[in-house]
Amino acid sequence: MVSIMEIYQLLPKLNCKECEKPTCMAFASSLLSGESEIADCPPLYESGYESQLQELQSLLAPVSGATETGLVIHEDLCFGCGNCVVACPVNVANDPHGAALGLAPSNDKVILEVAGGIVTSKNVGECRRFGQNKILCDVCIVTCPSKAIEFV
Ligand code: SF4
Ligand code: SF4
Ligand code: SF4
Repeated sequence: MVSIMEIYQLLPKLNCKECEKPTCMAFASSLLSGESEIADCPPLYESGYESQLQELQSLLAPVSGATETGLVIHEDLCFGCGNCVVACPVNVANDPHGAALGLAPSNDKVILEVAGGIVTSKNVGECRRFGQNKILCDVCIVTCPSKAIEFV
C-alpha cells in the first residue's frame, strides 16, 4: 500500500503552491486520494527532478487504476474462480438468491462479479472498507488464491 510519506519524499518539497495546495504534504495526500494528478506539480517537470518524477509515476501506477474506494483488480492474475464473489459479505447480504448460495450474482446490487472470465467491480461505495461504518474487511483479498485483489 502506497503511503503519503513515500509520495512526499519524491516531491520537490518547495511548498510553492503552484499545485494549488498549501504544502507539498497536502499535495501528496491529494495525489493519494486521486484528487490531484502528478502533472499538477509543474516543478517536477523541471530539470533535476527526472528520476523523482519517474519513481513517482511508478509508485502511483496502481493508484491511477484504482476505483474510487482504492480497489484494484489485477486482471492478469484473476482467473475467474469466483471465490471473492461468493465470499464478499456485501455480496452475500445483497444477493440472497445468488452469492449467498455460492452461485453467480442474481441481481445488480453486488460489488464483485465474474464477467468474461475475470472479476469486475461495481457499487464499490458499498464496500465495507469505506463509508461511515468503515471496517477493514479483507475477505476478498484473503479468499483470492492468486492475489488478484488489492486495495491501494
Ligand atoms: S507544486 Fe509541487 S513543489 Fe509546489 S507545493 Fe505543489 S507539490 Fe510542492
Ligand atoms: S473488502 Fe470486503 S466488502 Fe469490500 S469488496 Fe472486499 S470482501 Fe467485499
Ligand atoms: S479476483 Fe481472485 S478470487 Fe476473485 S475471481 Fe479472480 S482469481 Fe478468483
